[in-house]
Amino acid sequence: MIRLPNPCLVVLVGPSGSGKSHWAGANFPPGQVVSADRLRALVGEGEHDQRAGTDAFAVLDLVLDRRLKRKLLTVVDTLGMDQARRRGYVALARRRHVPVYAITFDAPAAECRARNATRDRPVPAKVLTAQLKQWPSVLDAIGEDGFDAVYPAAPVTIVNPELVTAPDFSRRQQEEPLPLDFGLHVTNFTWPGGPSELGARLAAIARAAEEAGFAYLSVMDHFFQIPQIGRRWDEMLDSWTTLGFIAGNTTKLKLLTLVTGVTYRNLAHLGKIAATLDVLSGGRAVCGIGAAWNEDEHHAYGWRFPPVKERYGLLEDALQLLPLMWGPGSPSFEGKVITVPEAMCYPRPLQERIPIMIGGSGEQKTLRLVAKYADACNLFGNVETVRHKLGVLREHCAAVDRNPADIRVTQLSGVFVGNEPPPTMPSMVVVGSVDEHIGRYRELAEAGVQTAFVRLADLGGTEPVERFGEVIRAFG
Ligand code: GDP
Ligand code: MG
Repeated sequence: MIRLPNPCLVVLVGPSGSGKSHWAGANFPPGQVVSADRLRALVGEGEHDQRAGTDAFAVLDLVLDRRLKRKLLTVVDTLGMDQARRRGYVALARRRHVPVYAITFDAPAAECRARNATRDRPVPAKVLTAQLKQWPSVLDAIGEDGFDAVYPAAPVTIVNPELVTAPDFSRRQQEEPLPLDFGLHVTNFTWPGGPSELGARLAAIARAAEEAGFAYLSVMDHFFQIPQIGRRWDEMLDSWTTLGFIAGNTTKLKLLTLVTGVTYRNLAHLGKIAATLDVLSGGRAVCGIGAAWNEDEHHAYGWRFPPVKERYGLLEDALQLLPLMWGPGSPSFEGKVITVPEAMCYPRPLQERIPIMIGGSGEQKTLRLVAKYADACNLFGNVETVRHKLGVLREHCAAVDRNPADIRVTQLSGVFVGNEPPPTMPSMVVVGSVDEHIGRYRELAEAGVQTAFVRLADLGGTEPVERFGEVIRAFG
């Protein structure tokens, strides 16, 4: 079985009669297959109107470019024997940031001849003979054309780009396990039973998360549902109050907002809230914080939404103030934006330092602040993005003489475990089997992720949490 990501460009390569069009028809809907033969029929007199070849290829190139621009999975059904054309397809795919694969059709010469002979309008014997003679050198050279992979023809399964290599990585995880912590990120409270059952349901979910092996439970710090997840009037709970409730219903989960916007509260008060959670939870608080982005909420509640420069100033103030708040005494603090005459907070947190996690992965400002102040970062995106962002973070660390190993790397993604996702799902959810998710998380762990926050697309009860437990156990 060949695993191909959607989108990608698939280039068929093989002599006439080797089975290219047959394979394309068996594995892809007709709309995804761009065939030189069909285009010759469109711009010329029929599929075998060789005089229409130049025009057919001009149209084909245009169609490929427009489809890849739209990130549409596309199969090019041409002979693929011409190296310059193959390299042209690779270059186009690279330009459009779409992965590109070659499929080779290595049918015995006799079979190609026999199949060709049964066609209504066979390719002239001389032409086919020339193709068959050239074929071994095509197979030899194709590895140098720059394809992401070259596969001998076989049945295809189309998968999420993040899951293409998952089976290999899952095997590696079974053979030589790497550790990875998981966090359940609860972003939606529009659940069966409505508000009157919300408390009981949330408590049950939190207990199930602990049972399933989640190390963290996080909630968003929003006041209305955000457009990425649902409707503005959907249920939303105050973040820190909710964490207090969950603290009372669990014993092990570390608790955090992912992440608190720096503009929503007086920052000394934020320190007090986090310290209170830490004391009452037995030292389980983590302080997630970020520069805030949701202007809409600020307008609605009458909060100021300062310009971006001021928000980053405020964030830097918070990163300096919070440890002072949690430390001994009552120092005064004068930051870029705020002044706190008495940074005093008793009882102090049980943890000597409540870990601070910065949300966001802006390369100029946010990751620089991570390097300078944070105990953890939180990244979005696929493994390639994670590798890139961690490279940037390492550079910022070098610049301020910080050991990157002291910063916990966390990542957030939307996940559904199983084959049949719910019909209404936020975008950016990776749908896959337990095994595929194990492979994907293994790859992320190899890239440096230490904690994976998981937004379960079908969360509304304990069952999805228990189902995800199987993934967690592979890292236990
Ligand atoms: P192309 O020139 O490489 O596109 O070859 P086609 O896909 O048109 O195949 C030539 C003929 O062989 C067609 O009549 C196909 O139906 C037949 N054919 C190709 N592959 C297979 C196959 O895997 N099984 C069977 N039974 N027929 C095939
Ligand atoms: Mg064909």
